[in-house]
Amino acid sequence: MNRFANKRVLVTGGAGFLGSHLCERLLQEGADVLCIDNFFTGSKRNILHLLDNPYFELMRHDVTFPLYVEVDTIFNLACPASPVHYQVDPVQTTKTSVHGAINMLGLAKRLRARIMQASTSEVYGDPRVHPQGEEYWGNVNPIGPRSCYDEGKRCAETLFFDYHRQHRLRIKVARIFNTYGPRMHPNDGRVVSNFIVQALRGDPITVYGDGTQSRSFCYVDDMVEGFMRLMNAPDEFTGPVNLGNPGEFTMLELARKVIDLTHSRSSIAHAPLPTDDPRQRRPDITLAREQLDWEPRIALEEGLHRTIAYFDALLSGRE
Ligand code: NAD
Ligand code: UDP
Repeated sequence: MNRFANKRVLVTGGAGFLGSHLCERLLQEGADVLCIDNFFTGSKRNILHLLDNPYFELMRHDVTFPLYVEVDTIFNLACPASPVHYQVDPVQTTKTSVHGAINMLGLAKRLRARIMQASTSEVYGDPRVHPQGEEYWGNVNPIGPRSCYDEGKRCAETLFFDYHRQHRLRIKVARIFNTYGPRMHPNDGRVVSNFIVQALRGDPITVYGDGTQSRSFCYVDDMVEGFMRLMNAPDEFTGPVNLGNPGEFTMLELARKVIDLTHSRSSIAHAPLPTDDPRQRRPDITLAREQLDWEPRIALEEGLHRTIAYFDALLSGRE
């Protein structure tokens, strides 16, 4: 059953990378979409193609301030996601997660709306358990440079579950693992966009540390499908649920793949490893498979092809 047809759906952070793809998908499903964003890391360019659609509405708004609108469903994605961006103004990052969650939960409570939180694999910190299952409580530094993001997201999860227990709110919590695809910000410092842009320009590929740290990369369309299934799941299923691609690669492997696929002459240049950079990360997606019948369909190579085509067009002024 399509639960989104004719529903009023709010997407916070809707002009960002994941948000813009989600807005697009919701419109395809017949929803009436309200996108709010303060354009900190997102851009009008990401949603330019949606602005003519009468079922799409854009509002400039910062989630750290209360919002009074009427909707049925809320996807709370507002928050810078790349370490470079979330560390520019760490206090604002925590406020966005915590005050943003309080404001959006308050809105959901007044409207009795379903609400999904875009949480993160960062709640597991530098994990001691591998792969990471939802029952693992994590290994997070509370006072380091990544803490504004990690602890902000952890506190947001707490708020979601307290609103659920205290006010019987219908919540969904998605723990998103590294996701990539078209419309990532070319300068946001995340590894996939960095490597592709560097390879296309023929610049050295900056591998931090020795490049043996690992990540698992999910293509954006798979992630959006996960969001849709989670929001459509029965009320009893709140999550938290891991959403990500279990394929695991080291950063050196990723660098070599990107060089191969772009036919680039770039060399690999090692740079210092950032503080508290997690050593390894891979989702255990058993719960998502069982409860949502969801698993990623797009393999890394295929997803990289599509993302490379996007950045190629962007850098040559065609996008
Ligand atoms: P993004 O930076 O492209 O998008 C975030 C959006 O939120 C941007 O449009 C930004 O302008 C907006 N925003 C930031 N602060 C805001 C505020 N105070 N009020 C209103 N809007 C605000 O990042 P993304 O990759 O699209 O991430 C979306 C969400 O998914 C984030 O919550 C992020 O933490 C989560 N997430 C993403 C990944 C990933 O790999 N992409 C992984 C884990 C979690
Ligand atoms: N990384 C890298 N070179 C870059 C950017 C990132 O080697 O130019 C590494 C980074 O140190 C980390 C991994 O790639 O180990 C993923 O980094 P990203 O910032 O994309 O996401 P996160 O660390 O939040 O998973």
